[in-house]
Amino acid sequence: MRIAICPGSFDPITKGHVDIIKRAAGLFDKVIVLVLTNYNKHHTFSLEERKGLIEKATCDIENVTVDIYDGLLANYALNVGAKSIVKGLRAVSDFEYEFQMALTNKKLNPELETVFLTATSEYMYLSSSLVKQVAEFGGDISEFLPPQIVNDVMKKLCNKKIGG
Ligand code: ADP
Repeated sequence: MRIAICPGSFDPITKGHVDIIKRAAGLFDKVIVLVLTNYNKHHTFSLEERKGLIEKATCDIENVTVDIYDGLLANYALNVGAKSIVKGLRAVSDFEYEFQMALTNKKLNPELETVFLTATSEYMYLSSSLVKQVAEFGGDISEFLPPQIVNDVMKKLCNKKIGG
């Protein structure tokens, strides 16, 4: 079975993430969306909250599961028998960091390949931090998020409920 991992912070998951996950699910037998702890970033949503939001947003994709890991991605991949990491590339700005990570993961686990999918033009600009910035100033974030999680994210970020 060809297993791929889509790792990230997903703080929170956006339509851009879902697009990459869906496309990965079409290429591999099983996709594990992995919420990783990143001590360099301050996160708004807890690991469990992020996992729950991803599960809701991807519930219609059959071969996708969600997990949390506090450790090296290369080790997690070994443990679950995954040979591929799928990442989305938005712009040149993503490239340097992603290239460095891909080479590091390959060093740590030589069997591990990183596959880059180019962002869909519609979502090129979209990031979790952009969603949080817009919400902070009271802007409408519903168009950036998978519909299943709009209310949950709004509740947390804006302290208000759409239509309620
Ligand atoms: P962010 O950079 O928004 O904090 P993550 O660390 O959660 O996002 O990113 C996980 C993966 O999803 C990364 O490979 C990132 O490049 C990709 N990604 C994030 N947003 C998009 C998008 N709008 N389109 C394509 N890929 C994306």
